[in-house]
Amino acid sequence: PSIVDRLRTDEGGRVPFSVEFSPPRDAAAEARLWRAVREFERLQPAFVSMTYGAGGSTRDRTVRVTGQLAEETTLLPVAHLTAVSHSVDELRSMVGAYADRGIRNILVLRGDPPGDPMGEWCKHPDGVEYADELVRLVRDLGDFHVGVASFPEGHHRSPDLAHDTKFLVSKLRAGAEYSITQMFFDVEHYLRLRDRVALLDAEQAAKPIIPELMPITSLRSVRKMVELSGSVLPPALEARLAAAAGDGPEENRAAVREVGIDVATKMGERLIAEGAPALHFITLNFARATSEVLANLGLAVTHV
Ligand code: FAD
Repeated sequence: PSIVDRLRTDEGGRVPFSVEFSPPRDAAAEARLWRAVREFERLQPAFVSMTYGAGGSTRDRTVRVTGQLAEETTLLPVAHLTAVSHSVDELRSMVGAYADRGIRNILVLRGDPPGDPMGEWCKHPDGVEYADELVRLVRDLGDFHVGVASFPEGHHRSPDLAHDTKFLVSKLRAGAEYSITQMFFDVEHYLRLRDRVALLDAEQAAKPIIPELMPITSLRSVRKMVELSGSVLPPALEARLAAAAGDGPEENRAAVREVGIDVATKMGERLIAEGAPALHFITLNFARATSEVLANLGLAVTHV
């Protein structure tokens, strides 16, 4: 099935949700990932996505684990694929490796320069320059369902929001069926992105823009993630988190987490009220925080 086929509200009128995992670095991390996978399996997300990191052993493990998600669970995996550091031949063989494991849903991305995500982008001499080329390449390889990234606050390399929207629309026109947004902490950014796409191209605007939420569980790690993602932590939220964290040598994780869950719940409520097609959660391979938010939203229906 395609992701778009999965984005239907259930009999109870509940909006679907999905979760993002990241590749485990070692055996202990892999065991943790599988605990989260089994937890989420009971909650039946519409799909699960697996991010794609830099080369080497992590990459092989990513392909293997994503394959296992397809073969050994009831979940529908989406494999992220980035163009960075790959020739077109390598990109083709990655897509082939996923197809061999029954994976037909791919989230196509350009990726960031290895080492410094904000550093200068250098195209692989035999690679692709922008994600829209990779969308075409994957589509030309066969019966794949492709999604792309969107950026409610604009991508950090876009000169302005108008260009950013134009490039998103060109990925959709190249054949992407939906987009998943970068995380954000102000729902207005998401709503304005949706409006911009609608103004530019009504046909492409019919494709789902799936908002990405991250329940914050640590002030230190959200600060780092925000820096790497180019999104903004609104000052009022940062102050609230900082007050919860306290000024001891260790942040008060329980208090930060409580704020994070409350914020993600309120954002989820607003997004659902505004007609978001689904909610996509960054989990960092832990099930608990996301499950709590889902329970607050009435989206956690346990299927045994
Ligand atoms: P593109 O769409 O190619 O855009 C890159 C930049 O070029 C943007 O500034 C865009 O506005 C501009 N641009 C696009 N087309 C043109 C054009 N024709 N002419 C001029 N400028 C243009 N990274 C990973 O490494 N692994 C992952 O698994 C991963 N998963 C992600 C999942 C989501 C939901 C999101 C939102 C991001 C993810 N990323 C991941 C990060 C992503 O790879 C980076 O943000 C990357 O810098 C942009 O990728 P893109 O596919 O949007 O690139």
